[in-house]
Amino acid sequence: MAEFLTPKTQQEFEKNFCALKPLMNSTQAYFESSRCLFCYDAPCTTACPAGIDVPLFIRQIYTGNLIGSAKTIYSKNYFGSTCGLVCPTEVLCEGACVLNKQQVRPIEIGRLQNYATQSAMNNGSNVFSKEAAKSKKIAVIGAGPAGIAAACELSLLGYSVEIFEALSVPTGLVLTGIAPYKITNTQAVAEFEYLQSSFGFKTHFNSKIETAEQLKKLETDFDAIFLGTGLSGTKKIGIPGENLRNYVGATEFIAKLKRDFKTTEIHKTAVVLGGGNTAMDAASECARMGMPDVILAYRRSKAEMGGYEFEYELVKLVGVDGIFNAAPVEILGKDIVEGVKFVKTQTVDGKVVPIENSEFTIACTLVINATGQQKQTEFYAKIQGLQTDKNGKVLADETTFQVGSSKYFVGGDAVNGGAEVVNAAADGKKAARGIHKFLTK
Ligand SMILES: Cc1cc2nc3c(=O)[nH]c(=O)nc-3n(C[C@H](O)[C@H](O)[C@H](O)COP(=O)(O)OP(=O)(O)OC[C@H]3O[C@@H](n4cnc5c(N)ncnc54)[C@H](O)[C@@H]3O)c2cc1C
Ligand code: SF4
Repeated sequence: MAEFLTPKTQQEFEKNFCALKPLMNSTQAYFESSRCLFCYDAPCTTACPAGIDVPLFIRQIYTGNLIGSAKTIYSKNYFGSTCGLVCPTEVLCEGACVLNKQQVRPIEIGRLQNYATQSAMNNGSNVFSKEAAKSKKIAVIGAGPAGIAAACELSLLGYSVEIFEALSVPTGLVLTGIAPYKITNTQAVAEFEYLQSSFGFKTHFNSKIETAEQLKKLETDFDAIFLGTGLSGTKKIGIPGENLRNYVGATEFIAKLKRDFKTTEIHKTAVVLGGGNTAMDAASECARMGMPDVILAYRRSKAEMGGYEFEYELVKLVGVDGIFNAAPVEILGKDIVEGVKFVKTQTVDGKVVPIENSEFTIACTLVINATGQQKQTEFYAKIQGLQTDKNGKVLADETTFQVGSSKYFVGGDAVNGGAEVVNAAADGKKAARGIHKFLTK
């Protein structure tokens, strides 16, 4: 079981958070691509939410045509390099690879994808052919994967695009949320810069759109508006003690750590509440920051966890302990966290049922709530005609991503409630096609 010392320098941080999928060298890429069977009706392609022609881009790597390979990837997914690193390939393309059936290690599709796109980025090769300029202008709210993918596809079609981003940095949760052992901030920004310089769309940072007046102005100044606004902060569980110091939301904890790891307070015992991938990431990050006892507590059974099994294996490897069928009932402490009171549970007809008189407490000084993010409902209420479902997801046409019959389109976490980068990038591209249809009908 790994034990980590608290990193004091950038070098030590990089050692604790070392890359899960390091960049291949040319020999590794040649060897790995030679193992691909170039299957007809390739299941890896079917399993890719962006529909990348996997055998084709791998063959192009094998034959030394790296720019052609990058072109194949980017023609389907503008986040080709990022997704090569962060996609849960174990349950997507690599999980579907036929080699699994022969008890042979599947092709490392993610790393090959990253290798090919990195080559294009490093050479500054422009692999995109833009159409002639059109007079229409599109506004994109949010510079996350959905917004950037929409901006790329719209620029490709010849539209003039301006992105309005609340933060001072691009790529949304790729930069503020995804674990540093999957992608570094430098890698995330590098792909954005490559896309921006290839397409020439404008990005206004520190430009949050929040008032009805700002929305009205966009509606007047632009022919269509794409909402790539994602989700909001961590939602409260609704138990006593959530106001105590050192009780933090998972996305807020991770964003702070990713901004500057030196600001993370180190605690002897940390409890992470939740059973999804964000909970796994937060727990893994606590352990890698040198917290000795990290406990992941989930209110249902291990089999019912929302997080991927391979992610749970990963957190166990860094020394995190899991407790299951334990629901938090109170965060204990006076002004500051001193522990969590739990009740044991069982699942009956799909519902979590507390077991009477089974309360127990765990002493700790940090509690991270990773039970889910809020939706941007307040903001959406300012857009006329926009409707959300009972879970706060924006309702839009499934093919064009248009909101009702308005000039608004939407994609990514805002509409799917929180999925992966590849889904957000695929939505952004499809919504851009929807906007094109709307403007040319
Ligand atoms: C902790 C964590 C770990 C994750 N790990 C992975 C992973 O390993 N692999 C993976 O594929 N996916 C992962 N995901 C999911 C992935 O990051 C998201 O699905 C993806 O980023 C969604 O893209 P998006 O563009 O819809 O939203 P976001 O990435 O959230 O981007 C939205 C952007 O819009 C901006 N914005 C919002 N409102 C406004 C406004 N009113 N005005 C201006 N700007 C605004 C925000 O600042 C943000 O930059 C993870 C998510 C989390 C929370
Ligand atoms: S399924 Fe595996 S072997 Fe077949 S084309 Fe895809 S990566 Fe290659």
